[in-house]
Amino acid sequence: MVSADTRKIRLDHIAVVLNQPRIPENIGAAARAMRNMGIRELVVVDPNKNFDFDPILKLATHAASDVVASMRLYPTLQAALAPYRFVVGTTARLGGQRRVSDPAVTARKLIPVSQENRIALVFGREDRGLSNEDLRLCHALVNIPTADFSSLNLAQAVMVLCYEMNRAAADDRRPFTPKLANRYQLDGMYDQLREILIRICYLNPENPDYWMNHLRNFFTRLGLRAREVSIIRGIIRQVNWYSEKRYRDGLEEGLQKAREKETCD
Ligand code: SAH
Repeated sequence: MVSADTRKIRLDHIAVVLNQPRIPENIGAAARAMRNMGIRELVVVDPNKNFDFDPILKLATHAASDVVASMRLYPTLQAALAPYRFVVGTTARLGGQRRVSDPAVTARKLIPVSQENRIALVFGREDRGLSNEDLRLCHALVNIPTADFSSLNLAQAVMVLCYEMNRAAADDRRPFTPKLANRYQLDGMYDQLREILIRICYLNPENPDYWMNHLRNFFTRLGLRAREVSIIRGIIRQVNWYSEKRYRDGLEEGLQKAREKETCD
């Protein structure tokens, strides 16, 4: 049996509920946004009297026509919300007693809820949003942070929420913990570093620890991994080898010249 990944939100448990949408194009555009983000359950409450499928389907495009085809209609918000165990309201307005959070935070909180519970994301009508009475049916409220003009187009608000739900479905949030260098490897690296820096006259041999402490802080901040420490140690070894070679070569060259001079004299 394949067990569900409980670190991810269950998109198949999420529905978008549009309360009294006035503009059919917004229903179509919302359906398309849902389809883009992998959410398929669309519920519409008491739409405009001139409810017309043509503009809905036009904006939904062929890709989201199945979302429109399976859309459910209800006369009241209360009836529409009856099957859901967790209801999230969306609002452009802050203030009063409204305790709101942002879409990403909400999506994260919904991950565990979504495992066993159907969730409704409720959106208000274009001209007045959700009423206080509607908001009382919600367990949580979400506001999409904006500049001073806070009211988004209905379908665009649906997109932002669905996008965050999709992120919470894709991101398994397993923190990546690389293998960090151990103390032995780090201390070996610092010893080598001190030695080579003294040799190349970068550190004052009287007081090498002053600069070494700066370097230690610098490397500590980086949180070096085992592999990175071995690269740095390899570089130090190579610099050491090369400087010794140059030194030997220089000595030999000097001796050679001295011998040549002797034979010439
Ligand atoms: N004039 C209305 C805004 C309605 S916009 C008002 O002041 O409330 C239609 C719907 O889109 C809203 O009911 C809400 O569901 C959603 N919406 C628009 N802007 C939003 C925002 N900044 N945050 C959350 N939802 C928003």
